[in-house]
Amino acid sequence: MTVARSFEKPSFNWPTAIFMVVIHGLALLAFIPGNTTWGAVGVALVLHWITGCLGITLGWHRLIAHRSFQVPKWLEYFFVTCGALACQHGPIVWIGLHRHHHRYSDQPSDHHDAGKGFWWSHMGWLLREVPAQAEIDKFTRDIADDPVYNFFEKYFLALQLPLAVVLYLTGGWAFVIWGIFVRLVVVYHCTWFVNSATHKFGYRTFKTDDTSTNCWWVALVTYGEGWHNNHHAYQHSARHGLKWWEFDITWIHIRLLQSLGLAHKVKVVDS
Ligand SMILES: [Zn+2]
Ligand SMILES: [Zn+2]
Repeated sequence: MTVARSFEKPSFNWPTAIFMVVIHGLALLAFIPGNTTWGAVGVALVLHWITGCLGITLGWHRLIAHRSFQVPKWLEYFFVTCGALACQHGPIVWIGLHRHHHRYSDQPSDHHDAGKGFWWSHMGWLLREVPAQAEIDKFTRDIADDPVYNFFEKYFLALQLPLAVVLYLTGGWAFVIWGIFVRLVVVYHCTWFVNSATHKFGYRTFKTDDTSTNCWWVALVTYGEGWHNNHHAYQHSARHGLKWWEFDITWIHIRLLQSLGLAHKVKVVDS
């Protein structure tokens, strides 16, 4: 068993810490009788796919952070919007921090260095003022001046409001509780498992300079991102599941876009 290395924790990021406590608390409203309907659960699942798969995995991660394929600008902006609805900060900070992770994977300067323990890599780091935040500019020169990215950088939090209004008008509080609070919390933990669980559990196909692993259950809840050791080995590849059993539903989405003529310059391991 590995022992987490000791380190001096940066100061608390109070706004994020308070937000996380509040959103987890609000998600518990789902347990109150009357707040859960099949329709509300269905809405949460569809929004999980739109924000977690189309937004974070396909859009922010594979398309933009790694430029593993290209799409028309209007479609890129659509995926940027889906990602902003996941409310995981704005796209510039998210993409900058992700590229920073690949640059310093599991070194002390990696903001979610898995060597600092499971909790730290899962969500402990984001409740703190990690020094990596000061280096985001260095990693985001390609998107820093884009007005759409900057719009969502500013208003990603407010974006939940119009969505909440639409949900309330279509299905009442049950839709709001499941479509916003429960869905946000579930997508958060699914995304964070990529930083924690797939730097700890599973198998390693490639001897990378980090602790990344391939883990089937993380791949299931993150639309294919759980094949994280493959990803660390071949960061440019749009396809993360490389063996026949490594099911990667985001790769199927990308192939579909390609067959429709909407995705091009798709990079894979052999290219
Ligand atoms: Zn990545
Ligand atoms: Zn990683």
